[in-house]
Amino acid sequence: MAKCPICGSPLKWEELIEEMLIIENFEEIVKDRERFLAQVEEFVFKCPVCGEEFYGKTLPRREAEKVFELLNDFKGGIDWENKRVKLKLNDLLALETMLEEWDRRVKR
Ligand SMILES: [Zn+2]
Repeated sequence: MAKCPICGSPLKWEELIEEMLIIENFEEIVKDRERFLAQVEEFVFKCPVCGEEFYGKTLPRREAEKVFELLNDFKGGIDWENKRVKLKLNDLLALETMLEEWDRRVKR
């Protein structure tokens, strides 16, 4: 799971994406896989626990890719007017990981 590279606190993707809502045209960027992933890498996030800033490229790329898919699968997951992410992205990521693990066990 995503962690702050400075203090090691676990981070919630829904909060990270909320920080990104200030980016101009983010509503368009979020529909474009390459642009979205590039923005995540370049964006300077602020850890809500220690208050330090860090680049998104320190976050796990695999999770960023899944977050992209989740944001596009669940239309209305972002409340643009109130600048809130309504999806519980961390919970959904954990669920996906669990299902993948289950899938591997069944196929073995
Ligand atoms: Zn931190």
